[in-house]
Amino acid sequence: MTKKIKNFSDAISFKKLLIEIEDLVGKDNLNLIEKEDDDSYQRRNVSLFKCRDIKAIITPRFIKDVQEIIRIFNQNSTNISLHAISTGRNWGLGSAEPATDNVVTLDLRKLSSIRNINCEEGWAIIEPGVTQLKLSQSLDGSKRIFNITASSGHTSVLGNILERGVGLRRQRIEDLVGLEVITPEGELIRVGWWPHPSKNTAINFLGHGPSLLHLFTQSNLGIVTAAVVKLLPRPEEQKVLRLRFRRDVLNQSIDLLRRWYAQELISGVLKIYDSVSTESYGGSSDEHLVLLCISGTSAKVNALTNVIRSEAEESGFFSSISQSGQSSEDSSDFVLQVVEHAYAGDPSWNEHMLRAATGKDADQVDTEGGGWIFFLAFIPFNGKAVEDALSIIENIYHKTKIRVGITVNALSSDVIDLVISIKFSPQPEETSRAHKTLDLLYELFSEIGFYPYRLDVDHSHYSNKFFSNSEYEMNKKIKAFLDPKSIISPGRYA
Ligand SMILES: Cc1cc2nc3c(=O)[nH]c(=O)nc-3n(C[C@H](O)[C@H](O)[C@H](O)COP(=O)(O)OP(=O)(O)OC[C@H]3O[C@@H](n4cnc5c(N)ncnc54)[C@H](O)[C@@H]3O)c2cc1C
Repeated sequence: MTKKIKNFSDAISFKKLLIEIEDLVGKDNLNLIEKEDDDSYQRRNVSLFKCRDIKAIITPRFIKDVQEIIRIFNQNSTNISLHAISTGRNWGLGSAEPATDNVVTLDLRKLSSIRNINCEEGWAIIEPGVTQLKLSQSLDGSKRIFNITASSGHTSVLGNILERGVGLRRQRIEDLVGLEVITPEGELIRVGWWPHPSKNTAINFLGHGPSLLHLFTQSNLGIVTAAVVKLLPRPEEQKVLRLRFRRDVLNQSIDLLRRWYAQELISGVLKIYDSVSTESYGGSSDEHLVLLCISGTSAKVNALTNVIRSEAEESGFFSSISQSGQSSEDSSDFVLQVVEHAYAGDPSWNEHMLRAATGKDADQVDTEGGGWIFFLAFIPFNGKAVEDALSIIENIYHKTKIRVGITVNALSSDVIDLVISIKFSPQPEETSRAHKTLDLLYELFSEIGFYPYRLDVDHSHYSNKFFSNSEYEMNKKIKAFLDPKSIISPGRYA
């Protein structure tokens, strides 16, 4: 009985809340999702994760409206909470879906200005709707580039940073220096480093004392309305070397690549595609394909290219060695094109790869594309760890008959971001085998300590498996302190 009264009063409060929000943002920017079973509101995501119960989608046009929306949520007590997205293209992990039911989505794609760019000092201030394409185009012809991912040019720079995604030059967290956040109580705060309006200050993202910057990445503690990101110096020259090796020399080849990485012969993230992932992304290779970037002054690039080529030849591990622009097949191989351009800060080829992977352009990926799921784990950078990962994958293949693609992204000489892509036909039987494959990946990788560093909407319960108990409890205390009314939904990571 008490619960019924509570539900009833919640419903009244929620109606009142929606009226206030409609007055604020206008009818066009509030999409009410009345009934889950109404066909006109049926959503879909490219991974075919179950759609959650989203009550409404708000698309504010101004920062002050975001602040006001949070104030309205604070004044009307309901059991509905907010989930923020930047462009909602978190393909493979749930796209725009929240992890829980009873959510209102705050879609921030219309906040899309580049507030400021300073190529001399190497930073830009961007809002959630600023895409990779927009930021990279605004740097055309300058002395700076931005660290581009291999995803669509129409994905959000800020969304990917908050997700702790990975670009071709480094993990995106390294690009982040400052955040503008609206707290669950509606206060607008700035954390990390922000340029001084009149003084010429150097970037110092840690400031003094405890840093609050990463309190708000992979977080449910605030709504981010802007970020200060670092711009990289544009290399004077760049070469991409491509090396192919067979599975039987994988162990030794990876150890040699690690040595080159440790001795700083390589710039950016070194990539190794297996033949399934090369094909999934629109390239071709029946062996493992290594793509590594050498950039800097012309003399450095030439010298290091010679060093690596001669070491590669001497090792006898590689069946072919070539470099960018040397083959007439290049322009039809999207993997080579995307990677080479993205190393140089240019996402203009990325849509080809997206189409190869999902069958559709960015705007249709979720409605018609797929199926596509990611499992993303950090593993140690050595041949043995990669062998162990491959043997788990082979074991899973025997159970589900789904052949996954594997891409190694070496982030340092110690850590690999292992990207496992599950490409499947979105029919019920194959979808169920693809999801079974994902469950097994979580289970078996975690068992040997190869933990995922990003989670999808169906596996948020894994987040507390990787924390120490004390860190988990401290996180809960911080959430209770900063968001006592649970204005922001739990999310995938907390
Ligand atoms: C073919 C292909 C290649 C890909 N390559 C890459 C790659 O190289 N690297 C990579 O990292 N990913 C890659 N992806 C995955 C994905 O497309 C990108 O990570 C993409 O950038 C995420 O979507 P988004 O930018 O729209 O972020 P969003 O979906 O908007 O945001 C991601 C999450 O961040 C949080 N969030 C977003 N905005 C806010 C906010 N304003 N305030 C608070 N929280 C917020 C939310 O939890 C949200 O779910 C690839 C996908 C495909 C299909």
